[in-house]
Amino acid sequence: MVWRTALAVVLAAGGWCGASEVVTLGEDVRVEAVEAGVWLVVHRFAGGNNSLLVECGEGRFVWVDTPCTEEATGRVYAWLRGTFGEPNVIEINTGFHNDNLGGNGYLIGRGVVCYGSDVTPGLIERCWAETVRKVLPYFEGEANREYRDILVRQKLAAPNRLYPLAEGLVLKVGAETVEVYFPGATHTVDNVVVYFRGRRLLYGGCMVKALGARTPGFVGDADMAAWPVSVGKLLERYAEARVVVPGHGACGDLGLVRHTIEVCERYNRGER
Ligand SMILES: [Zn+2]
Repeated sequence: MVWRTALAVVLAAGGWCGASEVVTLGEDVRVEAVEAGVWLVVHRFAGGNNSLLVECGEGRFVWVDTPCTEEATGRVYAWLRGTFGEPNVIEINTGFHNDNLGGNGYLIGRGVVCYGSDVTPGLIERCWAETVRKVLPYFEGEANREYRDILVRQKLAAPNRLYPLAEGLVLKVGAETVEVYFPGATHTVDNVVVYFRGRRLLYGGCMVKALGARTPGFVGDADMAAWPVSVGKLLERYAEARVVVPGHGACGDLGLVRHTIEVCERYNRGER
């Protein structure tokens, strides 16, 4: 497979999470070094969509979520391989939307194990086509034609290593303990968070909004009553968290979780 990859390394003037180095992979993918051994991958697919690569020691990597498409995921994988040699990667999907697992097909083809909850494959099967129908109005206009075409065509590959959603998952990867936790329904009924205990790094995914977000965004699959209650559980459980990564937009700290509760409660009061 040939990637038309324009590779450029530039210095960011104060990027997300204080990123100091940014690698661009084509026009729509950026890989930002957040801190030693942690990279935020941002795929521009209409908006910016985050996934996170974490080096866990012994040459092992955890990739939480994927870019929205297999093609973009392949470019990031090629960068990883070019930089670190044949990588030993596991993937963790935090929900059934394409911004969580649109790259699974590519990764599974590469022999990467993709962890996901036991309800996620059924949601892809039963709900994804309907989600696309609901989300298309957000992709209006000529500028978004490419994204609409991909959304309509795209076949999502389910995770191939399942765990019971309510129980979550704890993985030892290299020196790191990686916890997958489901606090209850939020932006979808299967969104989970991933906590890297050694790094005190919380990947909140789509249930956590960036400070720049004034609304909950796409709520077609959300449980709006439960969302603020569920996400609020993160404040106590991960009170030690140092960095919090949202599914879209800039990283921060637990202030993002408090902001998410406010945004959801405002929405629920009808202040839109
Ligand atoms: Zn999302």
